[in-house]
Amino acid sequence: MSDLQFFGHIIDNEEVESLDGGRFDVWNPWTREVWAQAAEGSAADADRAVTSARKAFDEGPWPRLGRTERAAAIHRLADLMQERTAEIARLDSTNMGKPFEQAKHDVARSVWNFRFFADHQRDHCGEVYPMDSGHHCYSEFGPAGVVAAISPWNFPLMMASWKIAPAIAWGNTCIIKPSEDTPASVTYLGRLAVEAGFPPGVLNVLNGHGAPAGSSITGDDRVDRVTFTGSSQTGKLVMASAATHLAPVSLELGGKGANLVFADADLDNAVYWAVEAIFRNAGQICLAGSRLFVQDEIYDEFMARFVAAAEALTIGDPFDPATRFSALASRRHFEKVASYVAAAQELGGRIHTGGVAQDGSWVVRPTIIDGLALDAAPYCEEIFGPVCVVNRFGTEDEVVHLANDTRYGLNAMLFTENLSRAHRVAARLKAGTVWVNCFFIRDLRTPFGGVGDSGVGREGGNFSREFFTEPKAVVMQIDRKG
Ligand code: NDP
Repeated sequence: MSDLQFFGHIIDNEEVESLDGGRFDVWNPWTREVWAQAAEGSAADADRAVTSARKAFDEGPWPRLGRTERAAAIHRLADLMQERTAEIARLDSTNMGKPFEQAKHDVARSVWNFRFFADHQRDHCGEVYPMDSGHHCYSEFGPAGVVAAISPWNFPLMMASWKIAPAIAWGNTCIIKPSEDTPASVTYLGRLAVEAGFPPGVLNVLNGHGAPAGSSITGDDRVDRVTFTGSSQTGKLVMASAATHLAPVSLELGGKGANLVFADADLDNAVYWAVEAIFRNAGQICLAGSRLFVQDEIYDEFMARFVAAAEALTIGDPFDPATRFSALASRRHFEKVASYVAAAQELGGRIHTGGVAQDGSWVVRPTIIDGLALDAAPYCEEIFGPVCVVNRFGTEDEVVHLANDTRYGLNAMLFTENLSRAHRVAARLKAGTVWVNCFFIRDLRTPFGGVGDSGVGREGGNFSREFFTEPKAVVMQIDRKG
C-alpha cells in the first residue's frame, strides 16, 4: 500500500477518483521526490464537474441566498483557512518549493481575498441614478452563472483564491482547475468548503492537465465565464476555446516588468525592493521586476549593492526558517530557466552573480546579468525565474522608451525621491500597475491586469463585479406623463 498522499477531484462535495481511475504523480521540487498523487481529470470528469456546477447554479440555494448569508458562509471558509494556515502553507511549500514563511504569508493574503469579496458583494450590490426625466433608475449585479477558473503553480492557493473568491461571492458556482504541478492546496481548499457547509456544486475542484481537463471546462458551452492566469501562449488557446460559446474571458498573463531606478532614489529602499521584485518566490512571479534600468550616475554603486544583497539570500530547504530562496517549482521549469541563463552567456551577457547550481538540484541561484542586446531572448522574453537583466540609462525620456519597448505591460516600478518625476513617469509607463518606491502591494479595490500580451480585462473590486456578474439596468417611471 502506497503511503503517498492523494488529492482527488471535489465534485458535488465528494472527493472522488477519476472515472477511469487515472492518477498522476506530484513532486517535491526540493527533494526531487514524488510525495503525492492526484486524480488525472479526463473530459468525462470535466463533464461531471460542469454538470455539478450548472445544477448548483440553476437549482441550488447558492445564487438565491441573501447577500449577508452568502458573506457569512464565505467568512466561515476564511476562518477555517486561517485556523489551518500552517497546514495549507506546508502543502504549498512541499508542492512548489516556496519558503514556508512566504507560504504562510500567501495563505493570509488568500484569506483576505475571501473576506474582501464576501463583504464587497454585500456592500456594493447596486447603484441608483435619479434621472432628470422623472424616472428612477438603478443597476443590479446578478450572478453570471458557472465560472471556469484555471490557476497556475507559482502561487497555488493565492492565485486560485483570487478567482474563486469573487466568483462565488457574487453568487456564481465554480470549477477550478489548478496547475497539474500544484494540485494540493486547492484540493485542500475544496475540502474546507465542504467543511464550511457550502452547498454541493458551488466549488468543484478538477485536477489534471491543461488538456484535456482545462480545455474541456473552458470549451463547455454550459460555462458562462472563463478566468485564467498563466502564460500568454496558453491564454490565447483559452480565449479561443471560450469564444466557441461566447463566454467572456479574464486573462492574467505573462510579464517582463520594468524596474526604473533614478539617481535621486533612496538606494537602500531601491535595492531592498529590487531584490524582492526579482528573487521573491525565486522570481516565479508574473509581476517580477525582471528588467532593471539604473541611471548612469549610480550604476556602479547600485550594482555592487544589488549583487551583495542577492548573494546574501540564504538558499535552502523551504522548511528551514533561515531560507529565503529555494528550488524552482518543477524540473521542466528549472530546465527552461537554465536554458535562458545559458543563452545569456552565449549572447555575451555578463553574469555578475548567480547561475545554475551544479549539484543536481533544481536551483538557479539569484542571477544578475547586464550587457545583453535589446533583442536578446533573455532580455525580451519572460523567463519567470530568478534572473534579472540590467541596463543603464541617461535620461527620463530614454528610460520610459526602454521600459515601454516590450509586448508585455503588466506592471512597472520606479524609484525616485522627486515627486513630480514619480507622477510624470508613472503616467507614461504602459502597464496595468505602477509601484512607486515599493513592490507587490495590492489594494483589492483597485484594477489589476495587464496591457498587450499581459492580459485581457481587469479584476479587483468593482472590476471583478463587472466580470463575474450580469449587470442589469432597471428604469421606473415616477410620474405618469399627461
Ligand atoms: P501554462 O500557461 O501552460 O499553464 C497555466 C495553467 O493553464 C495550468 O493550470 C495549466 O494546466 C493550464 N492549461 C494549459 N493548457 C491549457 C489549455 N489548453 N486549456 C486550459 N488550460 C490549460 O503555464 P506553464 O505552467 O506551462 O508555465 C509556462 C510559462 O508560463 C512560465 O514559464 C511562465 O513564463 C508563464 N506563467 C505565467 C504565470 C502568471 O502568473 N502569469 C503563471 C504560470 C506560468 P497544466 O499545469 O496541467 O498544464
